[in-house]
Amino acid sequence: MICANLEKIRRNIALAAERCGRDPDDIQLLAVSKRMDAATVEKARQCGQKLFGENFVQEAQSKIEQLDPAISWHFIGHLQSNKTKIAVRLFRLIETVDRLKLARSLNRHAAGLDQTLDILIQVNVGREKQKSGVLPQDAEQLIREIGKLTHLRIRGLMTIPPYTDNPELSRPYFRALKKIADEFSGKGYFTDEAPLILSMGMSADYPVAIEEGATLVRVGTAIFGQRT
Ligand SMILES: *Cc1c(COP(=O)(O)O)cnc(C)c1O
Repeated sequence: MICANLEKIRRNIALAAERCGRDPDDIQLLAVSKRMDAATVEKARQCGQKLFGENFVQEAQSKIEQLDPAISWHFIGHLQSNKTKIAVRLFRLIETVDRLKLARSLNRHAAGLDQTLDILIQVNVGREKQKSGVLPQDAEQLIREIGKLTHLRIRGLMTIPPYTDNPELSRPYFRALKKIADEFSGKGYFTDEAPLILSMGMSADYPVAIEEGATLVRVGTAIFGQRT
């Protein structure tokens, strides 16, 4: 089932890319494995999936320690500063950096390991009160400050638009994130050592996100089924 789901999603990614004249190889699929056990992640790995996303540090740690070290993990949840030390060791990329205090803490621990950590800036494009992410009007200030931190590498932007069951209603938010990314690219805020990452789109709306420029889609339910 997981293999068939992954195949179907990869096909949908390719179709969405073709619709807008993009190269499907420019779009990464992040399998969101929160609340799935290590054996389930292993099944997906055996179907060729090598990139996974987790929302909770402790839950991720137990899986990561049990599984093939060749798997890459992104952190996509709300990260507390007291979890950054371990997060830096576990994750290849932190997608949800939205405040300077958090960035400084990640930078300090990355420096301690003599590493450079890849990050995305999470932007709250829907300006939702309860949601994480820097507000669009504060994003430039934040990214300039984080840009001074020597052991972080800003790879791009990430967003979670307001919840809706109509994917078309997410489109303006995806478009808004792309617009911010283009503006910041022009100002040289992202690393030029690696391609820009635009992380947007989940199970319900990843084709729309790709049409609007996503280079990384975060898909859980459509791969693993409903979380209990
Ligand atoms: C859970 C989660 C996803 C995956 O959501 P699905 O609807 O199950 O595909 C993607 N991104 C983030 C940040 C999540 O927390």
